[in-house]
Amino acid sequence: MTTVSIRRSGGGSVTLDRSAVEGLKAELRGSLLLPGEDGYDASRTVWNAMINRRPALVVHCAGVNDIKRAVDFARAHGLLTSVKGGGHNIAGSAVCDGGFLIDLSGMRSVRVDPEARVAHVEPGATLGDFDSEAQAFGLATPLGINSTTGVAGLTLGGGFGWFSRKHGMTIDNLLAVDVITADGRFVRANGRENVDLFWALRGGGGNFGIVTRFEFRLHPLGPGVLSGLVVYPLNEAASALKQYRQFAKEQSEETTVWTVLRKAPPLPFLPPEVHGTEIIAFALFHAGDPEVGRKAIEPVRHFGKALGEHIGVQPYRSWQQAFDPLLTPGARNYWKSHNFADLSDGAIETTIKYVGNLPSPHCEIFFGQIGGASMRHAADSAAYPHRNTMYVCNVHGRWDTPAEDRSGMEWARGFFRDTAPHATGGVYVNFLTEDESDRVNAAYGPNYQRLAEIKKKYDPLNMFQINQNIRPAA
Ligand SMILES: Cc1cc2nc3c(=O)[nH]c(=O)nc-3n(C[C@H](O)[C@H](O)[C@H](O)COP(=O)(O)OP(=O)(O)OC[C@H]3O[C@@H](n4cnc5c(N)ncnc54)[C@H](O)[C@@H]3O)c2cc1C
Repeated sequence: MTTVSIRRSGGGSVTLDRSAVEGLKAELRGSLLLPGEDGYDASRTVWNAMINRRPALVVHCAGVNDIKRAVDFARAHGLLTSVKGGGHNIAGSAVCDGGFLIDLSGMRSVRVDPEARVAHVEPGATLGDFDSEAQAFGLATPLGINSTTGVAGLTLGGGFGWFSRKHGMTIDNLLAVDVITADGRFVRANGRENVDLFWALRGGGGNFGIVTRFEFRLHPLGPGVLSGLVVYPLNEAASALKQYRQFAKEQSEETTVWTVLRKAPPLPFLPPEVHGTEIIAFALFHAGDPEVGRKAIEPVRHFGKALGEHIGVQPYRSWQQAFDPLLTPGARNYWKSHNFADLSDGAIETTIKYVGNLPSPHCEIFFGQIGGASMRHAADSAAYPHRNTMYVCNVHGRWDTPAEDRSGMEWARGFFRDTAPHATGGVYVNFLTEDESDRVNAAYGPNYQRLAEIKKKYDPLNMFQINQNIRPAA
């Protein structure tokens, strides 16, 4: 190694000499990686293949000391710095071109205290890691629907999944965090200590420091949960969605039903002639007694004449992995997202129109149902403000080749534009793409100014800027 030219956070670049880089390397328990070295490509690769960035230097962290050393190094040299947890963010905000990557993905410990019903989670753990450890004791907390997603990024944006109607957003179950702040301090934040930081981290993303430990409240769940799918043809979607919106108003908080419109994957319970045709699927989950769940979900089985269904009691961990085959890393993905308080006739019509014109067989439009317990907190109880949201809608553009980018993105943007009048105007920060920095205000709404003040206190020079950035208050 001779020297490393690396971008600075305020613009321009700096040349690091050999002794500086070797000095950092000597302090680490993990590895320091340069382009071309073993592990470099794994560190820089993220879920969305549209993101292909090459940092100049990577610290693959093995522990809190490595994180602290990396932050101190970044600050001392003024480096453009990104932080990687599970690497799932659609905007690719885990990586930066030509800068410094602090990669936490090797730190995946999840330690469960079954008596206290608390989980201590390292920042590289995935949802699958978490569920595996917590379910060993029949416990869970609300997380997302794809097991390879990182707990860290999901939690820092708010987090929701199958269990959120019963127990709230992921952040509503976050008890405490340990953080390395931009000035290199180790800080604990919870409901009593550094309360402002704890408020900001519950939704404010990676703007305020690097979380080195998350502490979550756990709830009994499963291991068997009633869950599954009911599938109808697209020509029944309008009627099914209208019945669904009524059902949602009467539904218990233990039951969650998401809906997705797409081309049918080759699911074994669907007749082969249905594969590849446009369908609407309802994904069902009941977080209580399966027999109660069976009765609760019964109306969904009669929204029309189903093409097929697959419902039963299965391990919660299996259900948490059920959608993994449709969400594998390595495809090109482009999302647009809105929050909805209800589904208007106009939103339903527009959705069906766009599903009739899918640009690739992997594209889909889904409505992730939350509501329930996630609505029981004030909009200013944490940085995440969207407590009026019943459905988080995501138009998930997904295809294989760059040649498809243009038509796929135009389709997603068209849907977004045409459904905007029916949406709340708010958006889940974790669903924003890299070209949507103008929507950060919509992601934080009335909480933005308070976040900017807290940013000024903990990261006045905006070291943590590769994210949906909250700028320090003037
Ligand atoms: C297939 C798929 C399914 C999804 N399903 C859901 C879902 O059901 N529910 C839901 O709520 N969300 C869901 N999401 C969105 C998900 O919450 C975000 O993509 C989230 O950012 C992923 O976190 P990560 O750690 O994997 O990402 P990363 O890309 O590693 O990080 C995301 C952001 O968080 C920052 N960050 C990461 N770790 C830390 C840390 N320890 N300290 C400070 N900052 C950090 C990063 O710098 C980056 O800005 C899904 C995403 C995908 C791709």
